[in-house]
This record gives sequence, structure tokens and C-alpha cells, in this order.
Amino acid sequence: MMDPKKNAAFDGHEDVVFVGDEALGFAGIVAIHSTAIGPAAGGCRIWTYARPEDALTDALRLSRGMTYKNAMADLPLGGGKAVLHKMGPDRAACFEEFGRQVEALGGRYITAEDVGASVADMRAIARGTSYVAGLPKEEGQAGGDPSPMTALGVFVSIKSLLGGSVQGRTITVQGVGSVGYNLCKLLANEGAKVIIADVNQANLERAKALGLEVATPDRIHAVKADLFSPCALGAGLNSRTIPELGAPIVCGAANNQLETDEDGARVVARGITYAPDYVVNAGGIINVSAEYLGEPADVVEARVRAIATRLGKVLEMAKAENIPPHQAADRIVRERIAAAKKN
Ligand code: NAD
Repeated sequence: MMDPKKNAAFDGHEDVVFVGDEALGFAGIVAIHSTAIGPAAGGCRIWTYARPEDALTDALRLSRGMTYKNAMADLPLGGGKAVLHKMGPDRAACFEEFGRQVEALGGRYITAEDVGASVADMRAIARGTSYVAGLPKEEGQAGGDPSPMTALGVFVSIKSLLGGSVQGRTITVQGVGSVGYNLCKLLANEGAKVIIADVNQANLERAKALGLEVATPDRIHAVKADLFSPCALGAGLNSRTIPELGAPIVCGAANNQLETDEDGARVVARGITYAPDYVVNAGGIINVSAEYLGEPADVVEARVRAIATRLGKVLEMAKAENIPPHQAADRIVRERIAAAKKN
């Protein structure tokens, strides 16, 4: 059995539970990072890893990230994440049993979709537990696919970073999947010149049909633009790409954009403004949270639009204290968690 405390990504997590069923053939990890502010919420990722230890590392890192994202978004939720690194042949039965094991945690962890999971999977989980979100939307209620709300949060952030309008500005978008595509639609509708790249041909064609220009995936970050929006995978800002960045501002949906903490300082050293990922990409979890709490759909959009104001405060603090924006964001979150622990 792996010992979470010996993993380099361990950060005082409250609990790490190994889930699974040998007969059904699935195995995974639920990492509960913090319940100081509320139940630990975060999606369930289905992924294969070279070693089970890598799945543990991912669960620890991602659950910590959810604590930060949820606290920054002022949600009444803590941070957790599930990673299933082995899936059995009867997928629905595996998810139902996973649901029962989530139920046994007594509401300390709430699950939803993440990479590799679908609404159908959430439905199967819901047969075993009520601690699940990301289910189909009910009339007037929040719910459904969170990516349009994630895109909206990134869009309002981009607008504020560009002084209130994207009209006539050049924006490069790396990755036009669920979030990137929705973002491109919003940008194109308001008159931005959008240049895109994707390694998936079908997704690229779908976005190209909006009348957008295309760059190659290995050069999109270097294309000259007013703003670069990473909406693909993490670690896109690293020692190789940062010296080549073609835009003075970076603001996108991808999780964990900075490969290392030093990359945050590297970006600042180049005079580039970086909008911390978890501040601007919280639209989806804001939607999921409202769904879980049974709130109406119309509260969600106002909360998502407030992300732009929050980003402004983080950037102001970074400037005033002369620290990189991602460190300013982390500081705000740590203060909030410490205050919650006192109460
Ligand atoms: P997605 O899988 O639908 O889209 C990702 C896209 O990036 C795909 O089209 C993929 O082909 C493309 N891509 C992968 N590698 C690439 C590369 N090297 N260059 C160019 N394109 C590449 O995922 P999504 O739901 O749109 O999420 C995008 C990012 O935003 C992820 O990092 C995700 O973790 C993050 N995020 C998503 C949400 C959400 O609501 N879906 C919420 C918060 C954060």
C-alpha cells in the first residue's frame, strides 16, 4: 500500500482513501485536501498512469488545487479529487460501486466530472450516492456542462485585462476543446481577431468554422498577439516557452499553467502579466457548486462575471507587494482558510 505522507505532493491532506473493487476491476484514490470551508468538492478523473504512485501524486496535487480554487471563488466548499487509474469492463457497475464508496465518506467528498468522465458516468455514480454533481440540468436550476461558464469567466477576465473591450485585439487560443471553443465564440462575437491551434483535427475544424486563423500547436504561444490564452493542458508556461511568449498578457482556462513556481517569477521578469489559472477558470466549479446546492441557474452568471473583479484585486495585491500574481492569489486563499479554521 502506498503511503500518501511519503509522496512529495502531500500537503497536510485531511484524508486519502483508496477506493475500488477487485471483482469489478476498478481502483483509485479519493484525496480530501481540506474541509475547513466546506465539504471537499472536485471532479473524478479517469486516467491511466505509468505507476499507481503517479495516480496518487495527481490526486494529491489536484485536490490541493481544488481547495485553492474553491476558496478563491468564495464557494462554501473545500478541496478534494478522485482519480480512478483502473477501470473494469462493466463501467456503469464500477461507477455505481464508486458512488457507494463516496457515500461511505459521509459527505466529506463531493464528486463531479473531470477528464475522462461523462454525464452518464455521473448518473451511474448517483445510483450509489447523493454526493455527486454534474448531472443533467433541471428546468431553471443550475447544472449541466460546466465548460460554457468556465469560458465566460475567462472571457470577462480577458476583457478587463484589455481595458474593457476585445474589439480589434489579437488573441491567441491554445486548445479549442470544450472551454476553448466556447471562449473563441465569445471573443469572435465581440470583434476580436482570434488565432487558434489544436492537435485534434476535428476540434480545430469546428473552431475554424467560426472564421478564425490557425497557427501550429508548437508555435501558438510565440505568435505575436495582445493576449495569449492557454486552454489545453497544464505546464504550458515553462523555461522553454516563456522566453518565446508573443503576448504581454496570459489569461486562459488550463489548470496548472505554470510548470514550476519559478516559472511564475520568469513570467514577471519578462514583464508579462499572468492571470492565475485558478482565479479565472472557476466558472465551471461555480456552476457545479450551484447545482449541488440546488440554486437557480440565474445566480451563476453573476457569480462568474465577478471573477474579473477578483482578478483585479489579485493583480493589485501582486503589484503592491511586489510578488508574482500566483503567489498573491495563494496568499489570499491561505488567509481565508486560516480564518475558516479559527471559526
Ligand atoms: P478538452 O479536452 O475539451 O479540450 C482541450 C483541447 O486542447 C483539446 O481539443 C485538445 O486536443 C487540445 N490540446 C491538447 N494538447 C494540445 C497542444 N499541445 N496544443 C494545442 N491543443 C492541445 O478540455 P476542456 O474541458 O476544454 O479544458 C481545457 C483546460 O481547461 C484543461 O486544462 C482543463 O483542466 C481546464 N479547465 C476546464 C474546465 C471545464 O469546465 N471544462 C474548468 C476549469 C479548468
